[in-house]
Amino acid sequence: MAHASELIATDIEAYLAEHEHKDLLRLLTCGSVDDGKSTLIGRLLHDAGLIYEDHLRALEADSVLSGTTGDQPDLALLMDGLKAEREQGITIDVAYRYFSTRRRKFIVADTPGHVQYTRNMVTGASTAQLAIILLDARQGVLDQTRRHATIAALLGIRHVVAVVNKMDLMGWSQDRFVEVVDEFAEVADRLGIVDAYVLPISALTGDNVVERSQRMPWFDGPPLLEHLETVDVTADVDLQRVRFPVQLAVRPDHGFRGFAGTLASGVLRPGAEIVAVPSGMRSRIDRLVTFDGDVEVAVPGDAVTVVLADEIDLSRGDLMVDPAHLPERAHDLDVTLVWMAEPPAYPGRQLLLQSVTGTANASLSAILHRMDITTLDAVPADRLELNEVARCTLTCDRRLAFDAYEVNATTGSFILIDRLTNVTVAAGMIRDSATGWDAQPSDTIAHHRSKITSSERAARFGQRPATVLLTGMTGAGKTTIARSLERRLFDLGHTLLRLDGENLRLGLSRDLGFSNADRSENLRRATEIAVLAGRQGLLTIIAMQSPDAEVRERARQLIGPERFIEVLVDAPEHIRRERDLDGRYAAADRGENPYVPGVTSPYEPPDRPDLHLDTSVLTVSDCVERILDTLRGRGVLGDER
Ligand code: ADP
Repeated sequence: MAHASELIATDIEAYLAEHEHKDLLRLLTCGSVDDGKSTLIGRLLHDAGLIYEDHLRALEADSVLSGTTGDQPDLALLMDGLKAEREQGITIDVAYRYFSTRRRKFIVADTPGHVQYTRNMVTGASTAQLAIILLDARQGVLDQTRRHATIAALLGIRHVVAVVNKMDLMGWSQDRFVEVVDEFAEVADRLGIVDAYVLPISALTGDNVVERSQRMPWFDGPPLLEHLETVDVTADVDLQRVRFPVQLAVRPDHGFRGFAGTLASGVLRPGAEIVAVPSGMRSRIDRLVTFDGDVEVAVPGDAVTVVLADEIDLSRGDLMVDPAHLPERAHDLDVTLVWMAEPPAYPGRQLLLQSVTGTANASLSAILHRMDITTLDAVPADRLELNEVARCTLTCDRRLAFDAYEVNATTGSFILIDRLTNVTVAAGMIRDSATGWDAQPSDTIAHHRSKITSSERAARFGQRPATVLLTGMTGAGKTTIARSLERRLFDLGHTLLRLDGENLRLGLSRDLGFSNADRSENLRRATEIAVLAGRQGLLTIIAMQSPDAEVRERARQLIGPERFIEVLVDAPEHIRRERDLDGRYAAADRGENPYVPGVTSPYEPPDRPDLHLDTSVLTVSDCVERILDTLRGRGVLGDER
């Protein structure tokens, strides 16, 4: 203990590393028995000398009886213990197994691999730091591999080990292994899995499980156990943001009042200031009490009772946070759901949401899209079936405190419960607060239609309504082209509206900043104006960076794809920089502006814009004429006068 407090005083990181996070690794194994998962875990325990002698002797006897592995013990039988646990229905069918080596302790969440067990995998994965995905060398990447990788990625597991098993059946072929590596790399890439380790093994013969394989000398990575013992997960722990969900207010006597819970992230110390959410009241930590007495520091994963300097009200479902990192709060949430119930879910479904920050009545207001696990594409969906993964909007009856799941898995996740049956029907991860794009108008609001028809307007204006969106990075030339286009269309006798992203911020969007969410909202407002203008028969030009491809897609859908013309305005970076008189790029380079698309935040160019204008080779009037040609091609400009 003396050693520990010295370490805390001098080096919190080192303390953390020793305390828990280097020592304990939570693993998830996914794959079906056919892939050799049971044999693999059995082999791991056996070769690492982690099976008790008596257990081994019993195993040998059983193996003779089952007779599938000659005179070798059938290591798959080791997993039978797990099956029994599973049959008892413990922890929604996820079996946990503990083992430890000299270097580390491990908790293995073992989940069956078939599609009907997706929900089990979600349960097992929710606390896992690393996922082992088993592949059969003969089959390579299958749909099930993609599903496992997808769920691991969704749940924010940063470390994935793809174990290519049964290399013995492929004659230890390096060529075959390289093929599988390529296939898996593509999946990992699309899912944004950063740390993916692919290794060739044979669970049956033990090659590359604990001992390095003699039969695959061409592979020089560490065997599985060594990788598991050494993979660095300390960086995954968030020591910055304090998130302490209160589980219980403890008051054994008049003199003592504390709040018990498990610290999700950040570091707590006596003297530190905290903010209670949702009340917003502030206090300081007086003491940190544990079963072993008071401590000077609490780190993520620690169960502690916090005693505050002031009497403030906190109850179950409230959060203690540090003043520098307040959580978000919103009624409408943009979430990823894994639907876990037999009856499908439809929009409008009423549910109970439960998270560490409390419960709320929640309505499934929209299913934005479902994820096709085979192609990893977003596909339209009007309902959610068992085991499907979808992006949805939830509307809660109170403002829920949360963090995005990728920031904090504890305050970013929740479950949905059927209020009648009390059954958990979905697990969810919060992406963000839902934006105006997702909000649904109340169905009591009437639509007062105009007495003027669209053909009357078309006849009057000599045009059909359309919206041109000029998207591109700063200095590309959007504003310049938009102004010239406006002049030219006006001179041709057209009636139109020009919306400049920057100028909207002088009025309508005065309240917005430059974060992705605010940029999205700025485009949404411009798009809504374009919809109104279109109904009045006008053309609209929007010049706005609109860096997010998905947001531009929403604009396209709202306006109607046939009336939407997306123009990418583009120029090489050095030219954009030369043109940037406001010094946006320079400010980004100095680290003063975190929101400059293309430098300090992403710019996603359109894959297939209706028009791509390189303003380093085209003149402004070239650009304008090309846009006019496109408008003519769409029949927007009528019979030109
Ligand atoms: P953005 O709106 O994309 O940030 P601006 O239109 O404000 O870009 O700035 C573009 C600058 O580049 C202007 O100074 C403009 O005169 C100059 N420029 C030079 N050639 C072109 C071109 N072909 N198209 C658009 N702008 C050009």
